[in-house]
Amino acid sequence: MTEQLNAFKMAQAQFDHVAELLNLAPQARAMLRQPTREFKFQIPVRKDDGSVEVFYGYRVQHSDVRGPSKGGIRFHPSETLDTVRALAMWMTWKCAVADIPLGGGKGGVAVDASTLSETEKEHLCRGWIDQIYRNIGPRRDVPAPDVGTNPQMMGWMMDEYSKLVGEYTPGVITGKPVGGGGSLGRTEATGYGVVFAIREAMKHLGIDSSKSVAAIQGFGNVAQYAAIGFIEKLGGKVACVSYWDREDRTPYTISHPDGIDPKYLKTITDIYGTIDKEKAEEQGYVIEDSGAWITKDVDVLIPAALEGQVNKDSVQKISDRVKILAEGANGPTTLEADAVLKEKGIFVIPDFLCNAGGVTVSYFEGVQNDMNFYWSEEEVLNKLDEKMSKAFKDVLDMSKEEDVYMRDAAYMVAIAKVVKAMELRGWL
Ligand code: GLU
Repeated sequence: MTEQLNAFKMAQAQFDHVAELLNLAPQARAMLRQPTREFKFQIPVRKDDGSVEVFYGYRVQHSDVRGPSKGGIRFHPSETLDTVRALAMWMTWKCAVADIPLGGGKGGVAVDASTLSETEKEHLCRGWIDQIYRNIGPRRDVPAPDVGTNPQMMGWMMDEYSKLVGEYTPGVITGKPVGGGGSLGRTEATGYGVVFAIREAMKHLGIDSSKSVAAIQGFGNVAQYAAIGFIEKLGGKVACVSYWDREDRTPYTISHPDGIDPKYLKTITDIYGTIDKEKAEEQGYVIEDSGAWITKDVDVLIPAALEGQVNKDSVQKISDRVKILAEGANGPTTLEADAVLKEKGIFVIPDFLCNAGGVTVSYFEGVQNDMNFYWSEEEVLNKLDEKMSKAFKDVLDMSKEEDVYMRDAAYMVAIAKVVKAMELRGWL
């Protein structure tokens, strides 16, 4: 049995712990432990058979003190207001730690998008914008993709917003397709950012990346580019990834004795992340149960799926060889598991530092939209590397100076920046 996870309670507990360490003023705590604004709305969608189905959508704006709220929209069957609140709060810390002038927000729809046709998905995306367009915008709140949403959906949403406000407004949303206002490098950004953070952690710990092996949970956008980057940029091997099988409605781990080839696996993965088992097995891949990824004898574990995956049960199965836990997902580690990681001496690259690459390139996308001038992929990825390396250094320095765990150090860096902006705006 895994512990019951309420992501928002977990996010608040992490915040409270560091607020205490920082002796934060009560007014600042009150403003930051709850979202600034939240919206819940109905989205009626006309289905292909002519019927209408009503979905529930959310947008939570946790903070806009450092700039417009920023964060993705998640389409997931078990999406709740509390998950969105937690994710919105983590976005505030993420943008602060990455030192980009944006706040934190998150949105969602409770839906299994794999049950919808392309047209129905488009109606749902446009319907989400129809309900919230008055409360978002390039200077208010800028959504982006997350679990279950993709660049095409961002393209539809940008189009709907532009029609409603009567002018082309690419900066209302990021993660758009390249050629439709998107930035080169945005698709790879989160996964590559994870890899840049791992590279810096390895330098700090004196680990030779070319001899290292990683195990990854997930095979969505973040996991795919984390795997490709780990092999191509660090020269390491990836033992396994995991994926959700749409037909069996079960997750699996997929490994290969020589290390997986993520580029090949991508070619046999459908848009919902299901890998073609038969084709993989023909190539020597082995299908294992979903929990197998965390038990692997590797140097680096990269949870890059959903919240709560490193929990009080699974954390016990981590091999003694593991040196680094790089959190590609948001909130993958529960509070109880965190305590065990500390005891085991595993170096944690906390989520809102580790996966900040996505929102960093989203910020670059917004800047390019504002200028109406677009950079090369090389320029984007170099700027991303600079930002990730600097953010990693800031957090590592803080953890050394204050002699605290990396997660607490990341919170300290982030909260200090947010509180400073509150002071400068005269809120405190
Ligand atoms: N959904 C991504 C995240 O959790 C990206 C957010 C963005 O680009 O705004 O960081």
